[in-house]
Amino acid sequence: MQIPFDNSYARLPAQMFTPQLPTPVKAPQLIAANADLAAILGIDPADLTVPEAAQVFAGNHIPDGAAPLAQAYAGHQFGNWNPQLGDGRAVLLGEVVGTDGIRRDIQLKGAGPTPYSRQGDGRAAIGPVMREYLVSEAMHAMGVPTTRALAAVTTGEPVYRETALPGAVIARVAQSHIRVGTFQFFAARGDMAALRALTDHVIARHYPQADGPAQLLDMVIARYAKLIARWMGLGFIHGVMNTDNVSIAGETIDYGPCAFIDGFHPNAVFSAIDQFGRYAYSNQPGIGAWNMAQFATALIPLMEDRDQAITDFTAAVHGMQDRYETAWLDVFAAKLGIADPSEDDRPLITDLLDLMAQDGADFTNVFANLGSDHARDQFLNRDAFDAWATRWQTRTSDTAAQIMAQANPQIIPRNHRIEQVIQAGQAGDFAPFHTMLATITAPYAPLTEQTAPYARAPAKDEQVTRTFCGT
Ligand code: AMP
Ligand code: MG
Repeated sequence: MQIPFDNSYARLPAQMFTPQLPTPVKAPQLIAANADLAAILGIDPADLTVPEAAQVFAGNHIPDGAAPLAQAYAGHQFGNWNPQLGDGRAVLLGEVVGTDGIRRDIQLKGAGPTPYSRQGDGRAAIGPVMREYLVSEAMHAMGVPTTRALAAVTTGEPVYRETALPGAVIARVAQSHIRVGTFQFFAARGDMAALRALTDHVIARHYPQADGPAQLLDMVIARYAKLIARWMGLGFIHGVMNTDNVSIAGETIDYGPCAFIDGFHPNAVFSAIDQFGRYAYSNQPGIGAWNMAQFATALIPLMEDRDQAITDFTAAVHGMQDRYETAWLDVFAAKLGIADPSEDDRPLITDLLDLMAQDGADFTNVFANLGSDHARDQFLNRDAFDAWATRWQTRTSDTAAQIMAQANPQIIPRNHRIEQVIQAGQAGDFAPFHTMLATITAPYAPLTEQTAPYARAPAKDEQVTRTFCGT
């Protein structure tokens, strides 16, 4: 397999990473490979189906030009500072500049222990790998900035979690795997050489218009505010918005116990490890600003006039709220088919969300069916919904249906469906995975007989109330 590597992180100061080969596995077998993404990366899609492909994506065979390494980073986990995280089970194979001119990382997650593994085994179980593959590709299909899945393989080896599970590796593609926690790692150590090198690297790679740390902060905040608004518009809960899981490039990264809301509730939490609801649906924008405050803090040592920088950076972080509110209005106005949103539209949106919350209406299906009886069917209090719908209709024009069709997915990767697919995969049957993948990567397509079951909200006994990292 020819991968046109062009590695830049490997040329950064040595303390920023550790050269690290993946640990070979017994009997790799391909679960899936992403021909569309391969083509963008300059990999011949035909190479994905040769037997060697499973060896490459399992880390058994290192392709020419790779410079495998594990990145150092730190982070705040649930608000608590952890100075030493890093790629504990991921190896960056290298970078490629795609046919679209964008540089991207190719990383193997679940590739074996590294110096940053702490107590972990460096491996991934098949469930979280399938979940990340499905959800990241669905997010991409819905136009949300995200890491993507290039391939997934089973390893032929068990991993031991609560029980023994089949092991797997996901080949993940990201604009980079640099996190807020990467900056924090060097700032906390007072390693100015690395902090400067990292900042220069990130500006050149992701924000070439930025003329220094202050503008970088501003641009990262802008992207992150928009990203969170997109999540909110899909009823998406990331679940672990720790600073080590915040991509500096503004992509959704680290799909662990993430979930899409079925019946709407603004305080919904799925992650079993999020005991106090820190990362609940409605907390995401506030936590986003908290994360940007940590990023700002990590950049301060780079500034000549630190007092001035503290004032400026504080203002920039506080400004995230406004950026978020603007993005949120754009996202939700489009969901209602409003072409020219204004501040006056906010109550129309929030009133609908309030009705949805009161009745636990299905988030995706309300928006996907607005204008038809199927939306009304989601509500218990139909009179209240009808009154709202009358207000809504006076605000929309003939372009509404078209705007809504592009803003409201018919199909999201629902938690109960993912669980069914994982159960089958754990038993060696990947047909449900492939069917679901094909369905959720066409989220805006009109429903057909085949796809309609994926749009159905879970029955009471199908509901998933808890999701797990599986690490
Ligand atoms: P996560 O919760 O997946 O974002 O991971 C937090 C930290 O734990 C990161 O440094 C991971 O690399 C590390 N980690 C998670 N799972 C494992 C594992 N099975 N083995 C080694 N390190 C792990
Ligand atoms: Mg992580």
